Amino acid sequence: MTRPRQTDNNTTCQNLHCRYHLKEKDKNIIKHGKNRAGHQIYKCLHCNTYFTQTKNTPLYQKHLTEPQITNICKHLVEKNGIRSIERLTGHHRDTIGNLLEDMAEHASEVNNYFMKDLGLSQYECDEIWTFIKKKEKTLKRAGTFEPESGDCYLYTAVKRNSYLFAAFSAGKWTQQTCLDMVRKLAKALKRPSLQCPLEVFTDGNDDYCYILPLCFQLGFVDYGQLIKIKRNGRWVVGKKRLVIYGEPSLGDIETTDVENFNSVLRERLGRLVRESKCLSKVKRRLVCAVELFKFYWNFINEFKRNVSPAKLEGLTDHLWSWHEFFYYQSLSNLS
Ligand SMILES: [Zn+2]
Repeated sequence: MTRPRQTDNNTTCQNLHCRYHLKEKDKNIIKHGKNRAGHQIYKCLHCNTYFTQTKNTPLYQKHLTEPQITNICKHLVEKNGIRSIERLTGHHRDTIGNLLEDMAEHASEVNNYFMKDLGLSQYECDEIWTFIKKKEKTLKRAGTFEPESGDCYLYTAVKRNSYLFAAFSAGKWTQQTCLDMVRKLAKALKRPSLQCPLEVFTDGNDDYCYILPLCFQLGFVDYGQLIKIKRNGRWVVGKKRLVIYGEPSLGDIETTDVENFNSVLRERLGRLVRESKCLSKVKRRLVCAVELFKFYWNFINEFKRNVSPAKLEGLTDHLWSWHEFFYYQSLSNLS
């Protein structure tokens, strides 16, 4: 006697030309063994085509198994560079590099899906220094012209208290890089209004004075600067609080949260750790690493006991797992 076929799986037909493409109702899908990476293969009995569970996920057509990929992702967000992961796991650095790019692309999609209509309240912005390939002084000494190499700054925006990593951009210390970041922030936020203005706090970088009016209507944004008074260019001897736009209360002008977050970022991403052999060779990879970390920090990382920044902000109701992150796309297709 044959075993009854199990059709109650949570997958749908991935064949574009099938009448039951992505349809949950009346689907007729059975399991059909596993491939070499251990991923389940399914067969749709309507159109007689086979597909794997990883279709439309960043795991698709990967030779590595899911536990191996999860392991690499965990290393990527915990201070390890690509070559150190190569030594730890035995996978080739190109495999890991390509995986990072695919994961970052997926993270960017999921981030953009969830990070919208964020509550307006207090946001802090700051910059963090790093370099691509060579430091500026080495580049000058060599006398070669490499437009992408040299000093690079990460502009970051963090929501106060919940530490939600709202936006970032990478590039030279220019108004353009600052504009890129503020535009991304504006896209992720609710529209500010007279009753409910956005509050932004930064250090004494004047770029924000020019950029903020380009992205937000004046009157809808309260902007304050915290200027540190330094002695001998090093020791902070005092703080000066300036109101630039709107009416933020003086006591609110602080940048401790974003500075704290940036030091976490520097500690968690191998390529940002100072005085190490690990560095970014191309800007694209740096952006990929930060994009993946952005998702990890907001959704997966346990920020305080059993909460993540995204949970504190009400973007999700639970802490995410890597497995959920990998398969998010295919699950959102179901509805
Ligand atoms: Zn089908």
